[in-house]
Amino acid sequence: MLNLVPFVSVDRMIKLVHRIGVETVLTDLAAAIEADFIRWGQFDKTPRIASHSDAGVIELMPTSDGRTYGFKYVNGHPSNMKRGLQTVTAFGLLADVETGYPVLLSEMTILTALRTAATSAMAAKWLAPKGARTMAIIGNGAQAEFQALAFKAICGITEVRLFDIDLAATSKCARNLAGRGLTLTPCRTAEEAILGASIITTITADKANATILTDNTVGGGVHINGVGGDCPGKTELHRDILLRSAIFVEYPPQTRIEGEVQQLAPDHPVTELWQVIAGKAEGRRDAAQITLFDSVGFAIEDFSALNYIRSKLQETGLYEDLDMIADPDDPRDLFGMLMRAA
Ligand code: NAD
Repeated sequence: MLNLVPFVSVDRMIKLVHRIGVETVLTDLAAAIEADFIRWGQFDKTPRIASHSDAGVIELMPTSDGRTYGFKYVNGHPSNMKRGLQTVTAFGLLADVETGYPVLLSEMTILTALRTAATSAMAAKWLAPKGARTMAIIGNGAQAEFQALAFKAICGITEVRLFDIDLAATSKCARNLAGRGLTLTPCRTAEEAILGASIITTITADKANATILTDNTVGGGVHINGVGGDCPGKTELHRDILLRSAIFVEYPPQTRIEGEVQQLAPDHPVTELWQVIAGKAEGRRDAAQITLFDSVGFAIEDFSALNYIRSKLQETGLYEDLDMIADPDDPRDLFGMLMRAA
């Protein structure tokens, strides 16, 4: 008996995003992630399993809600770009907990960019100052346009100020975002980029304790969406900014290892984002506060994203069937199945 597993290739994912519309996908994903964050207690949670090397990291990100199990394979290699390769690539799987059989295999390089942007914008919806219309994006690489469009669609951002140490990245980003209803302002420094911005996204890639923003450049009343600090020894913000901020995280046991908060004492107070969304913890307290979403990316976001893609398969037909589970008619006759093929 053939037991086929739906597979969403890069080509099908691209078609699926075009069919639905990128801003709709981002909005739908934010809603799906938010719904899963509200039922946080139902999920198995563990810090992701990381294999570090001098060049980067390879990670497995598993979770389960008791009915469906999911995991993502993802890498982070900041030096890849110089070799013409992506910093981040990924694929992921969903399985039925009842049988253990896979029910979806999908590319997740594009899906990770979408779900990261959706999560960032979802967090900002809860934490950013009211009426925020201008965002700075520092780091204009593969993730940047997804971030800009998510903040436009979900938070109503109308102006994006761009900065990257590589002018070519900023030009690429501005070119890709042109004509999408955003005012785009390329800037020459990070300090210039954050001028007048109520939301500051840092999304650079460098395997270092970098200081993309120093303490004295960041005023009160802003929301920082810190995305690029997501590994031990890989951070973006000066420690003093963290000390002035109310810090919101995904899953503390993982973020304390990987996030900006690795620079702080292990008991430094942080608020779990899901608690804000579920009405169990306070978000932004006042207009003058600095809120920081110390994003590292958590397995439940990938689970939500994979489930969303799965829910679109029948209506779009954008998948192919993979023969990846050996499933003999007599479950004990695996060897017979192998030999009969001769
Ligand atoms: P990328 O390599 O495509 O782009 C990174 C950009 O940052 C490059 O254009 C580079 O020139 C720029 N940059 C490096 N140092 C800089 C600096 N000091 N100031 C300004 N710009 C600088 O990488 P990407 O795929 O866009 O990913 C960006 C970061 O986001 C990575 O660190 C990645 O690990 C992280 N990430 C996090 C999540 C999450 O969920 N938190 C998800 C995906 C990616």
